[in-house]
Amino acid sequence: MTNFVPQMGSNNQGPWNDFENYCRSLASQGKEIYIITGPVGNIGTIAGGRIVVPQYTWKVVLILPNGSNDLQRVTRSTRAFGIVVPNFPPLNSNTPWRQFRVTVDAVENLTGYNFFSAIPINTQAIIERRRDVQ
Ligand code: MN
Repeated sequence: MTNFVPQMGSNNQGPWNDFENYCRSLASQGKEIYIITGPVGNIGTIAGGRIVVPQYTWKVVLILPNGSNDLQRVTRSTRAFGIVVPNFPPLNSNTPWRQFRVTVDAVENLTGYNFFSAIPINTQAIIERRRDVQ
């Protein structure tokens, strides 16, 4: 499986789903959104040991107004952040997604990935360490 992982119901049907709806609402308001999603960690397996259950699921987003030449339109003010949602109990499915919001830097540290690496390093550093408050 390359595009889905076992997710606890209170994760997938709770803040995870709410955040996906939030991203859809931004898109319908005229934004263009880069979304990177993945699992991290290992809290066990299912299917006879063939499928890992991740400890957390995460997303990283970068939000621009609709347009072209996206890379050239990224500035120090560009909004970028992530969420890291537990995939283990206890997780109340009513927990607002904003409670799991983190910086891009935090997701980079958690996963070892370097997101948005095409953005010039100074701008990348600024937008990746900024705490999103919207
Ligand atoms: Mn980066």
